[in-house]
Amino acid sequence: MSEVVIESFTLDHTKVLAPYVRLISVEQGPKGDRISNYDVRLTQPNRQEIPTGAMHTLEHLLALYLRPRIEGYIDCSPFGCRTGFHLLCWNEHDTKDVAIALKEALEDILHTTWEQVPGTQEKECGNYKDHSLVGAKEWAKEILKQGISSDPFERKIV
Ligand SMILES: [Zn+2]
Repeated sequence: MSEVVIESFTLDHTKVLAPYVRLISVEQGPKGDRISNYDVRLTQPNRQEIPTGAMHTLEHLLALYLRPRIEGYIDCSPFGCRTGFHLLCWNEHDTKDVAIALKEALEDILHTTWEQVPGTQEKECGNYKDHSLVGAKEWAKEILKQGISSDPFERKIV
């Protein structure tokens, strides 16, 4: 087996300035279709991490609010380190546009009621008891206060 290089692990996590959106890679399939993968970093690596309940509710709400704002949206899934999300979508978008979409989605989260959170029943989710809308809102507020940058190393707040 050839050496596996995983781009995310080559990033110097001590050099980035969160919150930010970064393009990790663009993969092209055999028929020319392109899928892009973004690093949607919400908290500063090795300084802060989002508790699982808040992270989980953010995941459900980003599925609701980010999808309609990003053409070709495929998925937005949490990093195991709980500092952000992978965003996958068809084709490529400017990180500035993704950062603006994220900002608007977080603003929507601030006004969300529990009844509006999708997939919170036992049959719809793998850990339906581990949700925190209060936590999701607090983190959304905090991230918005810090501002979302379209560059991981320089603060270019949208
Ligand atoms: Zn779930």
